[in-house]
Amino acid sequence: MAENTKIPYKIYLEENEMPKQWYNMRADMKNKPAPLLNPGTLQPMTAEELEHVFCDELVKQELDDETAYFDIPQEILDFYKMYRPSPLVRAYCLEKALDTPAKIYYKFEGNNTSGSHKLNSAIAQAYYAKKQGLKGVTTETGAGQWGTALSMACAYLGLDCNVYMVKCSYEQKPFRREVMHTYGANVTPSPSDTTNVGRQILKEFPGTTGSLGCAISEAVEAATTREGYRYVLGSVLSQVLLHQSVIGLEAKAAMDKYHITPDVIIGCAGGGSNLGGLIAPFMGEKLRGEKDYQFIAVEPASCPSLTRGKYAYDFCDTGKVCPLAKMYTLGSGFIPSANHAGGLRYHGMSSVLSQLYDDGLMEAVSVEQTSVFEAATRFARVEGILPAPESSHAIKVAIDEALKCKETGEEKTILFGLTGTGYFDMVAYEKFNNGEMTDYIPTDEDLEKGFAGLPKVD
Ligand SMILES: *Cc1c(COP(=O)(O)O)cnc(C)c1O
Repeated sequence: MAENTKIPYKIYLEENEMPKQWYNMRADMKNKPAPLLNPGTLQPMTAEELEHVFCDELVKQELDDETAYFDIPQEILDFYKMYRPSPLVRAYCLEKALDTPAKIYYKFEGNNTSGSHKLNSAIAQAYYAKKQGLKGVTTETGAGQWGTALSMACAYLGLDCNVYMVKCSYEQKPFRREVMHTYGANVTPSPSDTTNVGRQILKEFPGTTGSLGCAISEAVEAATTREGYRYVLGSVLSQVLLHQSVIGLEAKAAMDKYHITPDVIIGCAGGGSNLGGLIAPFMGEKLRGEKDYQFIAVEPASCPSLTRGKYAYDFCDTGKVCPLAKMYTLGSGFIPSANHAGGLRYHGMSSVLSQLYDDGLMEAVSVEQTSVFEAATRFARVEGILPAPESSHAIKVAIDEALKCKETGEEKTILFGLTGTGYFDMVAYEKFNNGEMTDYIPTDEDLEKGFAGLPKVD
């Protein structure tokens, strides 16, 4: 108890305590994630093939399953200092409101203008593009957080930034779009008639509100058909998990300072980058047999890739222009209902997290939208922060775990990732507040349609 009172509401690191290297979980995995495959030859993608799409240095990071630590370049460290370390907060007020013996901590990544953790990888990817002497980058964005983060990073480094934004978000979130414009990015609603693949998708599915998978295809085409451009991706890839390890490394350093050991670590999972980053150093200890933790991935019931998907090679995009990745997937043709957590609407999942999940090292649960907004509201009213709908998936399960402790009397320590703020999601909050929010759960039949499109790989 005496120890408890010493733990401040917010634990910050000093500048000299901040991580100087990223940690690569793959180095400690016995079963490595399956390699990306060339969709034509079904052979592992070579560095040379990948370099047509991604920056050279990022290809190295993508293919490296052995190096545990990568130095963070000084320019990136300097950029991180503008908004990091992010606070690790002891949720004293939430604990009190829940009347739970559990101790709840959250790592808050919404403390920068882009409003999410995505800036951690955006600056890294933009930096390597700049270093390679490129003119610019192309990307997709779902809810808009990644596009915003990349726009900020590109503005800082003087790179051209072209964002294909999923059409329903482009229309639902004009403010995000204008933030990107303010940082100098070109924003195109996807599917668009500016690419071959976009025109094809529009012909096949007229009136579609788009999907991440489809926007990825357009962004890849735009990058590979233009001199001096490469494609960058905000999640899913192993390099993105590597950059996001800064979240977990900071969280662990802050907890170590006060001799706190989490029992349960929870994060929302779209493509898996924030969760992969948050759990990285803890999972490292588990993989090396030094410590044990319970890890829980939380996904929306409307897009349940881990809990109801298949572990198989699949296309990363709807247009089938990207390499094949082995992952828990709903099929690249699966277009989820227009739920209000745009950042969690991806059909697949990071192959690193997929492998960890398949090996039983991590658990997954899916939750319904209205229960997520109930948790978000409860959290906002006591902790003050207005959470992003994506982040609120983690809040929901953290609250559930804390309430279980209330039943059993266990004093578990819970750590969850609060990935961002929800200021641009007020249409969703409005729906919830007016009682107009619905839950959509795909039927097995709906999922079968997505699985039917999986490529045959032996
Ligand atoms: C993009 C996003 C997510 C989901 O992406 P991951 O790659 O799974 O982390 C979660 N929360 C917020 C706020 C986001 O912007």
